[in-house]
Amino acid sequence: MAVNLLDFDLEGLAAYCESLGEKRFRAVQLYRWIHQRGESDFEKMSDLAKSLRAKLAGVAEVRALPLISEHRSADGTIKWLFDVGDGNAVESVYIPEDDRGTLCVSSQAGCAVGCRFCSTGHQGFSRNLSTGEIVAQLWFAEHRLRGAEGERANATNDTRVVDNVVMMGMGEPLQNYAALVPALKTFLDDHAYGLSRRRVTVSTSGMVAMIDRLREDCPVALAVSLHAPNDALRNELVPLNRKDGIGALLDACVRYLDAAPRDFVTFEYCMLDGVNDTPELARELVKLVKGRVPCKLNLIPFNPFPASGLKRSSRERVMAFAKVLQDAGIVTTVRKTRGDDIDAACGQLAGEVQDRTRAHERMVRAPVRVVRRMDRQDGPLQETKA
Ligand code: SAH
Ligand code: SF4
Repeated sequence: MAVNLLDFDLEGLAAYCESLGEKRFRAVQLYRWIHQRGESDFEKMSDLAKSLRAKLAGVAEVRALPLISEHRSADGTIKWLFDVGDGNAVESVYIPEDDRGTLCVSSQAGCAVGCRFCSTGHQGFSRNLSTGEIVAQLWFAEHRLRGAEGERANATNDTRVVDNVVMMGMGEPLQNYAALVPALKTFLDDHAYGLSRRRVTVSTSGMVAMIDRLREDCPVALAVSLHAPNDALRNELVPLNRKDGIGALLDACVRYLDAAPRDFVTFEYCMLDGVNDTPELARELVKLVKGRVPCKLNLIPFNPFPASGLKRSSRERVMAFAKVLQDAGIVTTVRKTRGDDIDAACGQLAGEVQDRTRAHERMVRAPVRVVRRMDRQDGPLQETKA
């Protein structure tokens, strides 16, 4: 099969060009044509030496992901479903905002972590995406939207459409580390997408050893999906917590901040009705992180899907939880749900992944423990609007 040039970061492409007997600056030209111009036809790369174009023809290609479908939400969110072969599909979601455009990118077909509240987790794991398949999502989105559509009203001189990438689509990015890092490097490279390190976010369910490696290899913004303030509850919601535990995870976050482009870690916390959303747990969360990890909290209203058996916390409960954190001086935001009319919201991405591991059945047999709603008596808190 032809070499997929989307698999290479600039170093990799330079090495590949050298293997064809070409100089490094040719690789820079080629890289710019592919990523900055969105060109996949070597013949159209007009200033590229004819000799190189001839060498590439037949042995290399810019391999896009076959598009299965495109859905547009009333709020402007766009979800694309891509075919990755063998009955598997992955999704990317474009979220336009007033001042920026965010692309949510997938790293795996399915996911092996198996979080209880996540649709991808319920599908089980199919396979890792290659670097080229990760990069192809941004390549496609950026150039499709930059094209005739002029997706953003203020896209004048600065024609970039996607200026924020979050690895929050399907899959656990740090379980596909070898493919992830060159993809991140292409997102950041000034000869490619030139995104700021602060605007590329890796979201992880918390793989301690890999957080340390990312700090060494390619520090970008870090989001950690915490979802619980103690090991007993987190073990149930995020099964890989049983390996290292929250203490080791928080220590890794602190180490990460030495090298990170931002001076805080974002903790994501999916609000599950009656499971992890009580004021007691909010207070426990404050005790856990305060003075230990510089962080912001991002509360995500749970996006229900059939088979999860879980419910979204009410707005009042989310606000009460947020207030406990804010009163303790922790910057807390509540994520706006976008694109849920097209199943593009967090955790709803399922693609067409086949259920190979029967993870779904395992989870249905072992329902999540529901905590007692101690805060029912806490009248004033429930009325607070944070
Ligand atoms: N595997 C990585 C990144 C992908 S999930 C991770 O877990 O961080 C991206 C975010 O969506 C995570 O914070 C995850 O906890 C959250 N999420 C998963 N399922 C969800 C759901 N059904 N509703 C709301 N958020 C969900
Ligand atoms: Fe995997 Fe993240 Fe979903 Fe957990 S929340 S199953 S780690 S994709």
